[in-house]
Amino acid sequence: MQTGIENFVEAETDLRGLVFDIQKFSLHDGPGIRTTVFIKGCPLVCKWCSNPESQSLKQQIMTHDIRCIGCGKCAEACGTGAIAFTEAGREIDWEKCNECLECAKVCPARGIETVGKFMTVDEVVAKVEQDRIFYENSGGGMTVSGGEPLVQWEFVSRVLERCREKGIHTALDTCGMAPWRDLERVIEHTDLVLFDVKHMDSAIHKEGTGVGNETILENARKVAERTTTWVRIPLIPGFNDSESNLTRVAQFAGEIGAEKISLLPYHNYGSSKYPKLGRTYPMEGTPRLADEKVEALKRWLETMGYRVEIGR
Ligand code: SF4
Ligand code: SF4
Repeated sequence: MQTGIENFVEAETDLRGLVFDIQKFSLHDGPGIRTTVFIKGCPLVCKWCSNPESQSLKQQIMTHDIRCIGCGKCAEACGTGAIAFTEAGREIDWEKCNECLECAKVCPARGIETVGKFMTVDEVVAKVEQDRIFYENSGGGMTVSGGEPLVQWEFVSRVLERCREKGIHTALDTCGMAPWRDLERVIEHTDLVLFDVKHMDSAIHKEGTGVGNETILENARKVAERTTTWVRIPLIPGFNDSESNLTRVAQFAGEIGAEKISLLPYHNYGSSKYPKLGRTYPMEGTPRLADEKVEALKRWLETMGYRVEIGR
């Protein structure tokens, strides 16, 4: 006979989240060696996003032309006629694609793959637990990132809670764009929050990310009152790397009592993913920031009394 408690546990175990990656041995998502769980879905559309496959809250297809063996199975499975073969090989008419995922299901060579996997809380926690020894030896733990983890706040909250119950240090990497009631529930189970502050001017923030920064800054203040917080600044050339903006972000970090500032220099490592999703990389041709400039910005912020690290 089942008791009420067993029913509850069963219901909790059934809770599923859409995860697009679990990365082990992460060294830049909080202290020590960490496992980072990447949650799918994001309310922002940052022009420099290096994980464009994270933005949609749905499963989607991603193409890998180099793996395609030209068998034609994907075209046979496609009900919308979105796949054709030309001299250049297998091509997708993204306008016709309705993301039914059938092509990815039949592809024998992973020339088309499904991005995003529904996982239970137990499945995620079991993966995280595999590296417990490394967390213990390095002062590490697990980090939930994205995408934006708060779009699946209930699932994320349970994962963090379960990891904490098992004595694993928990961190949340967030853009901060979420209703406070959701964020509040998640940080109850979070030891450290890595909070992105991309620009202090709301109109410019909206230009780069699609949303203003009012909710984000308000949430950052509330989070830092309750939990250890690091302010993360993705350093984007020509967008937010001016001295005036960085001074304002650093002052804000100081005001809210952030423990540390992490500078995340722009890179274009994610640019090749855009065409694989039928998209165009919005920042094509943007040069990387020189290491010397990033080091100089770090030293400059340190002279103002901030604790600063260069991350990635
Ligand atoms: S996901 Fe798109 S391309 Fe693939 S079978 Fe469905 S409609 Fe066709
Ligand atoms: S099913 Fe896969 S391997 Fe075959 S043609 Fe399509 S993408 Fe290429």
